[in-house]
Amino acid sequence: MTLKTLFCTAALLAGLTSTAHAAYTIEHVTVIEGTGAAARADMTVVVDGERIARVTPSAVAGAPQGQVIDGRGKYLMPGLMDVHIHLAGWKWDARHDGPPVIDHAAAEAALAGYLYDGFTTVVDVGNLPENSLYERGLERAGKIPSPRIFATGNLITYPGSHGDAMAIRISDFEKDKALLDRHIAEQQPDILKLTYDEEGWGARPMITLMPPALLHQIIQYYNEHGIRTTVHVSNERRSLEAIYAGADTLAHPVIQGPVSDSFVRLMAAKKIPFATTLTIGENYSRLAEHPEFLDEPDYVATFSSAERAEMRTHTRAAWLARPWTWWMKLMTPICEENIRKIVAAGGVAALGTDQSSGPAGHREMELLVQAGLTPAQVIRIATHNGAVFLGKAEDMGSVEEGKLADLLLLNADPLKDIDNTKAIALVMKGGRIVDESTLPLAGGPARRRFPAR
Ligand SMILES: [Zn+2]
Repeated sequence: MTLKTLFCTAALLAGLTSTAHAAYTIEHVTVIEGTGAAARADMTVVVDGERIARVTPSAVAGAPQGQVIDGRGKYLMPGLMDVHIHLAGWKWDARHDGPPVIDHAAAEAALAGYLYDGFTTVVDVGNLPENSLYERGLERAGKIPSPRIFATGNLITYPGSHGDAMAIRISDFEKDKALLDRHIAEQQPDILKLTYDEEGWGARPMITLMPPALLHQIIQYYNEHGIRTTVHVSNERRSLEAIYAGADTLAHPVIQGPVSDSFVRLMAAKKIPFATTLTIGENYSRLAEHPEFLDEPDYVATFSSAERAEMRTHTRAAWLARPWTWWMKLMTPICEENIRKIVAAGGVAALGTDQSSGPAGHREMELLVQAGLTPAQVIRIATHNGAVFLGKAEDMGSVEEGKLADLLLLNADPLKDIDNTKAIALVMKGGRIVDESTLPLAGGPARRRFPAR
């Protein structure tokens, strides 16, 4: 079986139509692999079916395959990954006493926005299953334009704990095991999300915490089913306890105060991936103080004018008035420094926003640069490390032979300025070029960026 036949077979097994099997050769492009390897100029990358078939210097590339794309003056990097989102598409009813209201069109507009902004993978770590799992099903069936969706379904917590309102509540492992079995069988979580946070920070009162022994039992149970886990934590002590209870990843950095040197060394030694989530804390004061960011092109494209008007008026007024906004503003530089130290020591950060939009992912990258990381480090955090977080780095997250062809072709160098990740020439997901004109964006129809064949 030739390599080409092998890739075709893989594409067929993945449910893609055989007639749509296309090949592309991107010539004379600068490749930013995503793994932290130095950028390589004048490369040729061949995409065959849904995967990257070859990455070679153009000088030795041989005959092109399929459609030729001139990559001169352009930069090819992996598609972006946000490993901590909560997909839009539902809200509590106005009086908060009925069941939540599901809005598939809103979810699909948000998903289209991620793709438009260069995100080819999102990880939903806590949602109503009838929202996130419904859209995951459509995405995997190829029925909606969307990044790859990995989802936890319902998160799991202890009664009265953080996130309790949207969680499956487990108080005793043996007694509640059937709930876990049901969660695994019915929701097929790609990763389990647990919460482990007694709060008591900022203006929040203390709440109940899951006993660590129970945390350990649940993590082990999911691992025995082949499922990785991520744990919501916010301080150093609970992060440590979660790690030693077996957490595979942390859903947040430490944000309640500066981390100790021993914690930095431990994170580097363990290489536990953690989601960066600076944007969730910073977005309150950003809107309060700099609402003009809502006029930037990626916000105009991916939010409706009504949504932006609502943020500029009611949302902004509410956030200006509450202490939480200013607490998070105060803590953001502390959190940035915690992330910088752990990355500098060799720890594994993965881009996560704890938000629901593509532009938030680009803001996360800006904040990581503001934290003192280089654009090269940030690109690794936003691509390869996301795949590491998911346990899927063998399959995706880098521009390497055999990996899924989730790619971003840029018109400007993101190593010079991280905002050049917005200078998108084309987005490719699984070997298919996204046609922006077909995306149901909240900001209205977009122009196709890469001309059709
Ligand atoms: Zn979250």
